[in-house]
Amino acid sequence: MKIRKLLVANRGEISLRIIRSVKEMGIQTVAVFSEADRESPHVLAADQAVCIGAAQASASYLCMDKIIQVAKDLQVDAIHPGYGFLSENAEFAEKVTAAGITFVGPSAESIAIMGSKLQAKKAVSAYGIPLVPGTDKPIEEVAHAKEIAAHIGYPILIKASAGGGGKGMRIVRNAQEFDDQMARATSEARSAFGDPAVFIEKYIESPKHIEIQLLGDQHGNMVYLFERECSIQRRHQKVIEEAPSPILTPQIRTKMGDAAILVGKSCNYYGAGTVEFLVDKNLDFYFLEMNTRLQVEHPVTECITGLDLVKEQVKIAEGDLLSVTQEELHINGHAIEARIYAEDPENQFLPDTGTLVTYAPPKGPGIRVDDGFEEGMQIPIYYDPMIAKLTVHAQTRELAIAKMQQALTEFKITGIKTTIPFCQFVMDHPEFRSGAFTTKFVETHFDPAELQPKFSEEEMQLMAAFAVYWKELSENTPSTAPNSPIQNKPHSRWKSRKTK
Ligand code: ADP
Ligand code: ADP
Ligand code: MG
Repeated sequence: MKIRKLLVANRGEISLRIIRSVKEMGIQTVAVFSEADRESPHVLAADQAVCIGAAQASASYLCMDKIIQVAKDLQVDAIHPGYGFLSENAEFAEKVTAAGITFVGPSAESIAIMGSKLQAKKAVSAYGIPLVPGTDKPIEEVAHAKEIAAHIGYPILIKASAGGGGKGMRIVRNAQEFDDQMARATSEARSAFGDPAVFIEKYIESPKHIEIQLLGDQHGNMVYLFERECSIQRRHQKVIEEAPSPILTPQIRTKMGDAAILVGKSCNYYGAGTVEFLVDKNLDFYFLEMNTRLQVEHPVTECITGLDLVKEQVKIAEGDLLSVTQEELHINGHAIEARIYAEDPENQFLPDTGTLVTYAPPKGPGIRVDDGFEEGMQIPIYYDPMIAKLTVHAQTRELAIAKMQQALTEFKITGIKTTIPFCQFVMDHPEFRSGAFTTKFVETHFDPAELQPKFSEEEMQLMAAFAVYWKELSENTPSTAPNSPIQNKPHSRWKSRKTK
Protein backbone atom coordinates (compact mmCIF):
# COMPACT_ATOMS: atom_id res chain seq x y z
CA MET A 1 0.00 0.00 0.00
CA LYS A 2 1.39 3.41 -0.98
CA ILE A 3 1.96 5.81 1.88
CA ARG A 4 0.54 9.27 1.14
CA LYS A 5 1.00 11.06 4.44
CA LEU A 6 3.54 10.28 7.15
CA LEU A 7 3.94 11.57 10.72
CA VAL A 8 7.35 11.65 12.33
CA ALA A 9 7.08 10.88 16.05
CA ASN A 10 10.40 12.49 16.96
CA ARG A 11 12.28 15.76 17.06
CA GLY A 12 15.46 17.50 15.99
CA GLU A 13 17.92 16.24 13.42
CA ILE A 14 16.37 12.82 12.90
CA SER A 15 12.89 14.23 12.41
CA LEU A 16 14.20 16.71 9.83
CA ARG A 17 16.26 14.02 8.09
CA ILE A 18 13.20 11.75 7.75
CA ILE A 19 10.95 14.59 6.57
CA ARG A 20 13.41 15.47 3.79
CA SER A 21 13.62 11.94 2.43
CA VAL A 22 9.90 11.20 2.49
CA LYS A 23 9.10 14.56 0.88
CA GLU A 24 11.37 13.52 -1.99
CA MET A 25 9.17 10.45 -2.33
CA GLY A 26 6.13 12.69 -2.81
CA ILE A 27 4.72 11.93 0.64
CA GLN A 28 3.00 14.62 2.75
CA THR A 29 4.64 15.14 6.14
CA VAL A 30 3.42 15.89 9.66
CA ALA A 31 5.74 16.93 12.48
CA VAL A 32 4.90 16.84 16.16
CA PHE A 33 6.64 19.09 18.65
CA SER A 34 6.81 19.98 22.31
CA GLU A 35 6.57 23.51 23.63
CA ALA A 36 10.38 23.60 23.83
CA ASP A 37 10.69 22.92 20.08
CA ARG A 38 8.20 25.41 18.65
CA GLU A 39 10.87 27.12 16.51
CA SER A 40 12.71 23.95 15.49
CA PRO A 41 13.68 23.39 11.86
CA HIS A 42 11.82 20.06 11.85
CA VAL A 43 8.60 21.92 12.68
CA LEU A 44 9.12 24.42 9.87
CA ALA A 45 10.13 21.74 7.37
CA ALA A 46 6.98 19.61 7.65
CA ASP A 47 3.82 20.31 5.66
CA GLN A 48 1.85 20.33 8.91
CA ALA A 49 2.98 20.47 12.53
CA VAL A 50 1.14 19.92 15.78
CA CYS A 51 2.16 20.80 19.34
CA ILE A 52 1.65 17.73 21.50
CA GLY A 53 2.51 19.04 24.94
CA ALA A 54 4.99 20.38 27.43
CA ALA A 55 8.76 20.15 27.07
CA GLN A 56 9.28 17.03 29.19
CA ALA A 57 9.35 14.02 26.87
CA SER A 58 6.88 12.26 29.17
CA ALA A 59 4.36 15.01 28.39
CA SER A 60 4.98 15.09 24.63
CA TYR A 61 7.29 12.84 22.59
CA LEU A 62 6.51 9.80 24.72
CA CYS A 63 2.70 10.22 24.69
CA MET A 64 1.59 7.38 22.45
CA ASP A 65 -2.13 8.16 22.51
CA LYS A 66 -1.69 11.87 21.79
CA ILE A 67 0.55 11.14 18.83
CA ILE A 68 -1.81 8.51 17.42
CA GLN A 69 -4.74 10.91 17.86
CA VAL A 70 -2.91 13.59 15.85
CA ALA A 71 -2.26 11.01 13.15
CA LYS A 72 -5.93 10.07 13.01
CA ASP A 73 -7.11 13.69 13.02
CA LEU A 74 -4.81 14.57 10.13
CA GLN A 75 -5.52 11.36 8.22
CA VAL A 76 -1.97 10.19 8.34
CA ASP A 77 -1.37 6.69 6.99
CA ALA A 78 2.11 5.98 8.42
CA ILE A 79 4.20 6.86 11.49
CA HIS A 80 8.01 6.86 11.53
CA PRO A 81 9.36 6.76 15.10
CA GLY A 82 12.97 7.86 14.38
CA TYR A 83 15.39 6.68 17.11
CA GLY A 84 15.12 7.00 20.88
CA PHE A 85 11.70 7.92 22.33
CA LEU A 86 9.06 5.42 21.14
CA SER A 87 11.13 3.77 18.43
CA GLU A 88 11.75 0.54 20.34
CA ASN A 89 8.45 0.41 22.17
CA ALA A 90 6.49 -2.68 21.13
CA GLU A 91 3.29 -1.31 22.66
CA PHE A 92 3.51 1.78 20.47
CA ALA A 93 4.07 -0.27 17.32
CA GLU A 94 1.06 -2.37 18.27
CA LYS A 95 -1.16 0.64 18.99
CA VAL A 96 -0.20 2.32 15.72
CA THR A 97 -1.03 -0.82 13.77
CA ALA A 98 -4.29 -1.32 15.69
CA ALA A 99 -5.30 2.22 14.68
CA GLY A 100 -5.00 1.17 11.03
CA ILE A 101 -1.79 3.16 10.53
CA THR A 102 1.43 1.71 9.07
CA PHE A 103 4.32 1.60 11.52
CA VAL A 104 7.57 2.30 9.67
CA GLY A 105 9.63 -0.33 11.44
CA PRO A 106 9.56 -4.01 12.31
CA SER A 107 6.63 -5.90 13.84
CA ALA A 108 5.76 -5.38 17.51
CA GLU A 109 6.81 -9.01 18.10
CA SER A 110 10.35 -8.43 16.77
CA ILE A 111 10.66 -5.28 18.90
CA ALA A 112 9.48 -7.16 22.00
CA ILE A 113 12.02 -9.96 21.51
CA MET A 114 15.00 -7.72 20.81
CA GLY A 115 13.97 -5.02 23.31
CA SER A 116 14.91 -7.38 26.10
CA LYS A 117 18.60 -8.23 25.97
CA LEU A 118 17.87 -11.51 27.74
CA GLN A 119 15.11 -12.60 25.39
CA ALA A 120 17.29 -11.58 22.48
CA LYS A 121 20.13 -13.80 23.67
CA LYS A 122 17.74 -16.69 24.07
CA ALA A 123 16.36 -16.21 20.56
CA VAL A 124 19.76 -16.00 18.88
CA SER A 125 21.43 -18.80 20.85
CA ALA A 126 19.12 -21.23 19.05
CA TYR A 127 20.88 -20.15 15.83
CA GLY A 128 24.37 -20.85 17.13
CA ILE A 129 25.40 -17.19 17.32
CA PRO A 130 28.34 -16.69 19.73
CA LEU A 131 27.28 -14.77 22.86
CA VAL A 132 29.26 -12.86 25.45
CA PRO A 133 29.45 -15.41 28.32
CA GLY A 134 26.92 -14.67 31.04
CA THR A 135 23.60 -15.54 32.64
CA ASP A 136 20.59 -16.30 30.49
CA LYS A 137 18.01 -15.34 33.15
CA PRO A 138 17.44 -12.28 35.32
CA ILE A 139 19.33 -12.45 38.61
CA GLU A 140 16.94 -13.55 41.31
CA GLU A 141 19.27 -14.39 44.14
CA VAL A 142 22.48 -12.55 44.88
CA ALA A 143 24.29 -15.55 46.39
CA HIS A 144 23.64 -17.64 43.29
CA ALA A 145 24.66 -14.75 41.03
CA LYS A 146 27.95 -14.45 42.88
CA GLU A 147 28.66 -18.12 42.25
CA ILE A 148 28.04 -17.58 38.56
CA ALA A 149 30.24 -14.47 38.57
CA ALA A 150 33.06 -16.45 40.21
CA HIS A 151 32.61 -19.13 37.57
CA ILE A 152 32.69 -16.63 34.67
CA GLY A 153 35.59 -14.82 36.32
CA TYR A 154 35.85 -11.14 37.29
CA PRO A 155 35.56 -8.46 36.03
CA ILE A 156 31.90 -8.88 35.16
CA LEU A 157 29.25 -6.45 34.03
CA ILE A 158 25.78 -6.21 35.56
CA LYS A 159 23.42 -5.04 32.82
CA ALA A 160 19.79 -3.98 32.70
CA SER A 161 17.86 -6.31 30.42
CA ALA A 162 15.77 -3.37 29.18
CA GLY A 163 18.82 -1.05 28.99
CA GLY A 164 19.72 1.32 26.18
CA GLY A 165 21.65 4.48 25.31
CA GLY A 166 24.68 3.20 27.26
CA LYS A 167 22.76 3.36 30.54
CA GLY A 168 22.14 0.69 33.16
CA MET A 169 25.57 -0.98 33.25
CA ARG A 170 27.85 -1.56 36.25
CA ILE A 171 31.33 -3.07 36.16
CA VAL A 172 32.16 -5.34 39.11
CA ARG A 173 35.87 -6.01 39.57
CA ASN A 174 35.72 -8.43 42.51
CA ALA A 175 33.31 -10.30 44.82
CA GLN A 176 33.51 -7.62 47.53
CA GLU A 177 31.95 -5.05 45.22
CA PHE A 178 29.17 -7.34 44.06
CA ASP A 179 26.34 -6.61 46.53
CA ASP A 180 26.72 -2.87 46.31
CA GLN A 181 26.89 -2.70 42.50
CA MET A 182 24.02 -5.14 42.21
CA ALA A 183 21.79 -2.90 44.35
CA ARG A 184 22.74 0.16 42.27
CA ALA A 185 22.20 -1.61 38.96
CA THR A 186 18.74 -2.84 39.98
CA SER A 187 17.58 0.54 41.20
CA GLU A 188 18.96 2.27 38.07
CA ALA A 189 17.23 -0.27 35.85
CA ARG A 190 13.96 0.28 37.67
CA SER A 191 14.08 4.08 37.52
CA ALA A 192 15.48 4.45 34.00
CA PHE A 193 13.65 1.66 32.19
CA GLY A 194 10.75 0.73 34.50
CA ASP A 195 12.08 -2.85 34.62
CA PRO A 196 14.43 -3.92 37.44
CA ALA A 197 15.60 -7.10 35.64
CA VAL A 198 19.41 -7.30 35.46
CA PHE A 199 21.78 -10.02 34.33
CA ILE A 200 25.51 -10.75 34.30
CA GLU A 201 27.95 -10.68 31.40
CA LYS A 202 31.68 -11.25 31.30
CA TYR A 203 33.26 -7.81 31.08
CA ILE A 204 35.49 -7.90 28.03
CA GLU A 205 38.37 -5.54 28.79
CA SER A 206 39.37 -4.09 25.44
CA PRO A 207 36.91 -5.03 22.73
CA LYS A 208 35.87 -3.29 19.59
CA HIS A 209 32.22 -2.49 19.03
CA ILE A 210 31.36 -3.44 15.47
CA GLU A 211 27.79 -3.59 14.26
CA ILE A 212 26.08 -4.82 11.10
CA GLN A 213 23.28 -2.92 9.35
CA LEU A 214 20.43 -5.11 8.13
CA LEU A 215 17.59 -4.48 5.72
CA GLY A 216 14.80 -7.00 5.40
CA ASP A 217 11.53 -6.90 3.50
CA GLN A 218 8.17 -8.37 4.50
CA HIS A 219 8.65 -11.27 2.07
CA GLY A 220 11.55 -12.94 3.88
CA ASN A 221 14.45 -11.34 1.98
CA MET A 222 17.31 -9.88 3.98
CA VAL A 223 20.65 -8.25 3.18
CA TYR A 224 23.45 -6.75 5.26
CA LEU A 225 24.86 -3.33 4.42
CA PHE A 226 28.28 -4.11 5.89
CA GLU A 227 29.58 -2.88 9.24
CA ARG A 228 30.06 0.24 11.29
CA GLU A 229 32.99 0.53 13.68
CA CYS A 230 31.76 2.35 16.82
CA SER A 231 34.49 1.83 19.41
CA ILE A 232 35.13 5.48 20.25
CA GLN A 233 32.71 5.86 23.15
CA ARG A 234 32.27 7.72 26.40
CA ARG A 235 29.89 6.41 29.05
CA HIS A 236 29.33 3.29 26.86
CA GLN A 237 27.86 5.56 24.19
CA LYS A 238 29.28 6.22 20.75
CA VAL A 239 30.86 9.53 19.70
CA ILE A 240 32.71 8.59 16.49
CA GLU A 241 31.67 5.92 14.02
CA GLU A 242 33.03 4.82 10.68
CA ALA A 243 32.40 2.45 7.83
CA PRO A 244 33.99 0.17 6.91
CA SER A 245 35.90 -0.95 10.03
CA PRO A 246 39.65 -0.50 9.56
CA ILE A 247 40.39 -4.02 10.87
CA LEU A 248 37.87 -6.44 9.36
CA THR A 249 39.02 -8.86 6.71
CA PRO A 250 36.61 -9.72 3.88
CA GLN A 251 36.24 -13.21 5.40
CA ILE A 252 35.26 -11.94 8.87
CA ARG A 253 32.97 -9.33 7.29
CA THR A 254 31.09 -12.09 5.48
CA LYS A 255 30.97 -14.21 8.64
CA MET A 256 29.59 -11.33 10.71
CA GLY A 257 27.12 -10.38 7.98
CA ASP A 258 25.83 -13.95 7.79
CA ALA A 259 25.57 -14.13 11.60
CA ALA A 260 23.64 -10.83 11.66
CA ILE A 261 21.19 -12.17 9.11
CA LEU A 262 20.59 -15.20 11.33
CA VAL A 263 19.93 -12.83 14.25
CA GLY A 264 17.38 -11.05 12.07
CA LYS A 265 15.78 -14.36 11.09
CA SER A 266 15.58 -15.40 14.76
CA CYS A 267 12.89 -12.75 15.31
CA ASN A 268 11.36 -12.70 11.78
CA TYR A 269 12.78 -9.25 11.26
CA TYR A 270 11.81 -6.78 8.57
CA GLY A 271 12.75 -3.12 8.14
CA ALA A 272 16.12 -1.56 8.99
CA GLY A 273 17.85 -2.95 12.06
CA THR A 274 21.30 -3.23 13.56
CA VAL A 275 23.04 -6.20 15.12
CA GLU A 276 25.75 -5.14 17.57
CA PHE A 277 28.80 -7.30 18.30
CA LEU A 278 31.85 -7.08 20.53
CA VAL A 279 35.01 -8.15 18.71
CA ASP A 280 38.20 -9.27 20.46
CA LYS A 281 41.86 -9.18 19.44
CA ASN A 282 41.55 -12.44 17.55
CA LEU A 283 38.61 -11.05 15.57
CA ASP A 284 36.28 -13.45 17.37
CA PHE A 285 32.90 -11.76 17.68
CA TYR A 286 30.08 -12.01 20.22
CA PHE A 287 26.45 -10.91 19.92
CA LEU A 288 25.64 -7.92 22.15
CA GLU A 289 22.14 -6.80 21.18
CA MET A 290 19.95 -5.86 18.25
CA ASN A 291 18.52 -2.35 17.81
CA THR A 292 15.18 -2.54 16.02
CA ARG A 293 15.24 0.95 14.51
CA LEU A 294 17.22 3.42 12.46
CA GLN A 295 20.52 4.03 14.24
CA VAL A 296 22.01 7.44 15.02
CA GLU A 297 25.10 6.57 12.96
CA HIS A 298 23.27 5.34 9.84
CA PRO A 299 24.75 8.13 7.63
CA VAL A 300 28.12 6.37 7.34
CA THR A 301 26.38 3.33 5.87
CA GLU A 302 24.46 5.55 3.46
CA CYS A 303 27.73 7.10 2.30
CA ILE A 304 29.46 3.81 1.52
CA THR A 305 26.44 2.03 -0.01
CA GLY A 306 24.73 4.94 -1.78
CA LEU A 307 21.37 3.92 -0.27
CA ASP A 308 18.95 6.20 1.58
CA LEU A 309 17.95 4.09 4.58
CA VAL A 310 14.83 6.12 5.33
CA LYS A 311 13.52 5.61 1.81
CA GLU A 312 14.32 1.90 2.09
CA GLN A 313 12.38 1.77 5.38
CA VAL A 314 9.38 3.43 3.78
CA LYS A 315 9.43 1.11 0.75
CA ILE A 316 9.64 -1.93 3.03
CA ALA A 317 6.72 -0.60 5.11
CA GLU A 318 4.75 -0.23 1.88
CA GLY A 319 5.31 -3.93 1.24
CA ASP A 320 7.85 -3.62 -1.58
CA LEU A 321 10.54 -6.18 -2.24
CA LEU A 322 14.10 -5.15 -1.26
CA SER A 323 15.55 -2.78 -3.84
CA VAL A 324 18.98 -4.49 -3.76
CA THR A 325 20.45 -7.97 -3.55
CA GLN A 326 23.55 -8.86 -1.53
CA GLU A 327 25.55 -9.28 -4.76
CA GLU A 328 24.67 -5.74 -5.85
CA LEU A 329 25.98 -4.19 -2.64
CA HIS A 330 29.54 -2.85 -2.57
CA ILE A 331 31.60 -0.71 -0.23
CA ASN A 332 32.43 2.59 -1.86
CA GLY A 333 35.21 4.50 -0.09
CA HIS A 334 35.28 5.34 3.59
CA ALA A 335 32.96 7.41 5.80
CA ILE A 336 33.40 8.80 9.32
CA GLU A 337 30.78 10.41 11.54
CA ALA A 338 31.53 12.68 14.51
CA ARG A 339 28.70 13.35 16.92
CA ILE A 340 28.78 16.95 18.05
CA TYR A 341 27.23 17.03 21.54
CA ALA A 342 26.61 19.99 23.83
CA GLU A 343 29.01 18.49 26.34
CA ASP A 344 32.22 19.60 28.00
CA PRO A 345 35.03 17.16 27.18
CA GLU A 346 37.21 18.96 29.73
CA ASN A 347 34.71 18.17 32.44
CA GLN A 348 33.91 14.48 32.03
CA PHE A 349 31.62 15.11 29.07
CA LEU A 350 28.94 16.63 31.28
CA PRO A 351 26.12 18.19 29.27
CA ASP A 352 26.46 21.94 28.77
CA THR A 353 23.49 24.22 28.29
CA GLY A 354 23.00 27.59 26.67
CA THR A 355 22.50 29.34 23.38
CA LEU A 356 24.20 28.61 20.07
CA VAL A 357 25.66 32.12 19.80
CA THR A 358 27.61 31.13 16.69
CA TYR A 359 26.59 28.11 14.68
CA ALA A 360 28.46 27.69 11.41
CA PRO A 361 28.73 24.11 10.13
CA PRO A 362 31.34 23.23 7.52
CA LYS A 363 30.46 22.78 3.85
CA GLY A 364 32.12 21.26 0.83
CA PRO A 365 32.35 18.09 -1.23
CA GLY A 366 32.04 14.90 0.76
CA ILE A 367 30.72 16.70 3.85
CA ARG A 368 27.28 15.99 5.28
CA VAL A 369 25.80 17.69 8.33
CA ASP A 370 22.65 16.33 9.96
CA ASP A 371 21.40 18.90 12.44
CA GLY A 372 18.19 20.31 13.85
CA PHE A 373 19.24 23.67 15.22
CA GLU A 374 20.06 27.12 13.90
CA GLU A 375 22.24 29.93 15.17
CA GLY A 376 20.64 31.73 18.11
CA MET A 377 18.66 28.71 19.30
CA GLN A 378 18.79 27.22 22.78
CA ILE A 379 19.77 23.59 23.27
CA PRO A 380 16.85 22.31 25.34
CA ILE A 381 17.82 20.60 28.58
CA TYR A 382 15.00 18.10 28.29
CA TYR A 383 16.45 15.86 25.60
CA ASP A 384 19.63 14.22 24.41
CA PRO A 385 22.30 16.95 24.09
CA MET A 386 23.33 16.09 20.54
CA ILE A 387 23.65 19.21 18.35
CA ALA A 388 24.72 17.74 15.04
CA LYS A 389 26.26 14.79 13.25
CA LEU A 390 29.15 15.61 10.95
CA THR A 391 29.81 12.91 8.36
CA VAL A 392 32.57 12.88 5.75
CA HIS A 393 33.04 10.54 2.81
CA ALA A 394 36.26 10.03 0.82
CA GLN A 395 37.97 7.34 -1.23
CA THR A 396 40.21 6.04 1.57
CA ARG A 397 40.27 6.12 5.38
CA GLU A 398 43.30 8.40 5.34
CA LEU A 399 41.55 10.90 3.09
CA ALA A 400 38.39 10.69 5.19
CA ILE A 401 40.38 11.50 8.34
CA ALA A 402 41.99 14.49 6.61
CA LYS A 403 38.57 15.69 5.46
CA MET A 404 37.19 15.28 8.97
CA GLN A 405 40.09 17.24 10.47
CA GLN A 406 39.46 20.10 8.07
CA ALA A 407 35.68 20.00 8.57
CA LEU A 408 36.04 20.02 12.37
CA THR A 409 38.35 23.02 12.10
CA GLU A 410 35.74 24.89 10.09
CA PHE A 411 32.85 23.91 12.38
CA LYS A 412 32.36 26.99 14.55
CA ILE A 413 30.12 26.83 17.58
CA THR A 414 30.27 29.39 20.37
CA GLY A 415 28.12 29.95 23.42
CA ILE A 416 28.22 26.31 24.37
CA LYS A 417 30.90 23.68 25.04
CA THR A 418 30.97 20.90 22.45
CA THR A 419 32.69 17.62 21.66
CA ILE A 420 34.43 19.21 18.62
CA PRO A 421 37.83 19.49 20.39
CA PHE A 422 37.51 15.89 21.53
CA CYS A 423 36.78 14.72 17.99
CA GLN A 424 39.86 16.63 16.80
CA PHE A 425 41.92 14.92 19.49
CA VAL A 426 40.74 11.52 18.23
CA MET A 427 41.44 12.31 14.55
CA ASP A 428 45.01 13.35 15.46
CA HIS A 429 45.70 10.36 17.69
CA PRO A 430 48.10 7.68 16.38
CA GLU A 431 46.02 4.86 17.84
CA PHE A 432 42.89 6.04 16.08
CA ARG A 433 44.86 6.49 12.88
CA SER A 434 46.28 2.97 13.17
CA GLY A 435 42.80 1.49 13.41
CA ALA A 436 43.73 -0.62 16.44
CA PHE A 437 41.70 1.38 19.00
CA THR A 438 39.09 -0.24 21.28
CA THR A 439 36.22 0.90 23.50
CA LYS A 440 38.92 1.66 26.11
CA PHE A 441 40.26 4.51 23.99
CA VAL A 442 38.86 7.39 26.04
CA GLU A 443 39.85 5.85 29.36
CA THR A 444 43.37 5.00 28.17
CA HIS A 445 44.35 7.88 25.93
CA PHE A 446 42.17 10.89 26.49
CA ASP A 447 43.68 13.65 28.57
CA PRO A 448 41.57 16.83 28.60
CA ALA A 449 44.73 18.85 29.24
CA GLU A 450 45.79 18.05 25.69
CA LEU A 451 42.76 19.90 24.36
CA GLN A 452 44.26 23.27 25.23
CA PRO A 453 44.97 24.94 21.91
CA LYS A 454 48.65 24.97 21.04
CA PHE A 455 49.79 27.76 18.80
CA SER A 456 52.10 27.52 15.83
CA GLU A 457 55.25 29.62 15.54
CA GLU A 458 53.49 31.86 13.04
CA GLU A 459 50.52 32.36 15.32
CA MET A 460 52.82 33.20 18.27
CA GLN A 461 54.59 35.87 16.18
CA LEU A 462 51.26 37.25 15.11
CA MET A 463 50.03 37.50 18.68
CA ALA A 464 53.26 39.18 19.75
CA ALA A 465 52.95 41.72 16.93
CA PHE A 466 49.37 42.37 17.87
CA ALA A 467 50.30 42.89 21.51
CA VAL A 468 52.89 45.51 20.52
CA TYR A 469 50.39 47.27 18.28
CA TRP A 470 47.77 47.24 21.01
CA LYS A 471 50.19 48.60 23.59
CA GLU A 472 51.18 51.45 21.28
CA LEU A 473 47.59 52.29 20.57
CA SER A 474 46.69 52.37 24.21
CA GLU A 475 49.71 54.55 24.98
CA ASN A 476 48.43 56.89 22.29
CA THR A 477 51.73 57.08 20.44
CA PRO A 478 51.73 56.96 16.65
CA SER A 479 51.60 53.33 15.65
CA THR A 480 54.44 51.83 13.70
CA ALA A 481 52.22 48.95 12.72
CA PRO A 482 49.05 50.43 11.26
CA ASN A 483 48.55 47.51 8.91
CA SER A 484 48.38 44.80 11.48
CA PRO A 485 49.23 41.46 9.86
CA ILE A 486 45.99 40.17 11.37
CA GLN A 487 44.13 41.73 8.46
CA ASN A 488 46.04 39.70 5.95
CA LYS A 489 45.24 36.44 7.66
CA PRO A 490 42.41 34.29 6.50
CA HIS A 491 39.18 34.56 8.46
CA SER A 492 39.51 32.65 11.72
CA ARG A 493 36.99 30.12 10.48
CA TRP A 494 39.57 28.80 8.04
CA LYS A 495 42.49 28.78 10.44
CA SER A 496 43.67 25.42 11.60
CA ARG A 497 43.03 24.75 15.26
CA LYS A 498 45.75 22.20 15.88
CA THR A 499 45.68 20.28 19.11
CA LYS A 500 49.08 18.77 18.68
P1 ADP B 1 22.66 4.24 18.69
O1 ADP B 1 21.67 4.60 17.65
O2 ADP B 1 24.00 4.04 18.17
O3 ADP B 1 22.24 3.13 19.63
P2 ADP B 1 22.33 6.01 20.89
O4 ADP B 1 22.27 4.92 21.90
O5 ADP B 1 23.13 7.21 21.17
O6 ADP B 1 22.90 5.51 19.52
O7 ADP B 1 20.85 6.46 20.41
C1 ADP B 1 19.70 6.36 21.09
C2 ADP B 1 19.59 7.57 22.00
O8 ADP B 1 19.31 8.74 21.26
C3 ADP B 1 18.46 7.50 22.97
O9 ADP B 1 18.80 6.78 24.10
C4 ADP B 1 18.20 8.95 23.31
O10 ADP B 1 18.93 9.41 24.43
C5 ADP B 1 18.70 9.69 22.12
N1 ADP B 1 17.63 10.37 21.38
C6 ADP B 1 16.39 9.96 21.18
N2 ADP B 1 15.71 10.75 20.39
C7 ADP B 1 16.54 11.75 20.06
C8 ADP B 1 16.43 12.90 19.23
N3 ADP B 1 15.34 13.16 18.56
N4 ADP B 1 17.49 13.70 19.09
C9 ADP B 1 18.62 13.42 19.72
N5 ADP B 1 18.78 12.35 20.49
C10 ADP B 1 17.76 11.52 20.69
P1 ADP C 1 23.02 -0.26 25.06
O1 ADP C 1 21.69 -0.94 24.96
O2 ADP C 1 23.08 0.72 26.15
O3 ADP C 1 23.51 0.21 23.75
P2 ADP C 1 24.99 -2.43 24.79
O4 ADP C 1 24.82 -3.80 25.32
O5 ADP C 1 24.87 -2.23 23.33
O6 ADP C 1 23.99 -1.45 25.56
O7 ADP C 1 26.42 -1.89 25.27
C1 ADP C 1 26.84 -0.56 25.06
C2 ADP C 1 28.35 -0.50 25.15
O8 ADP C 1 28.82 -0.96 26.44
C3 ADP C 1 29.09 -1.38 24.16
O9 ADP C 1 29.26 -0.74 22.92
C4 ADP C 1 30.41 -1.64 24.86
O10 ADP C 1 31.29 -0.56 24.71
C5 ADP C 1 30.00 -1.72 26.32
N1 ADP C 1 29.74 -3.12 26.72
C6 ADP C 1 28.55 -3.73 26.75
N2 ADP C 1 28.67 -5.01 27.16
C7 ADP C 1 29.99 -5.23 27.38
C8 ADP C 1 30.77 -6.34 27.83
N3 ADP C 1 30.21 -7.50 28.16
N4 ADP C 1 32.10 -6.18 27.95
C9 ADP C 1 32.68 -4.99 27.65
N5 ADP C 1 32.01 -3.91 27.23
C10 ADP C 1 30.67 -4.01 27.10
MG1 MG D 1 23.89 -0.94 22.09
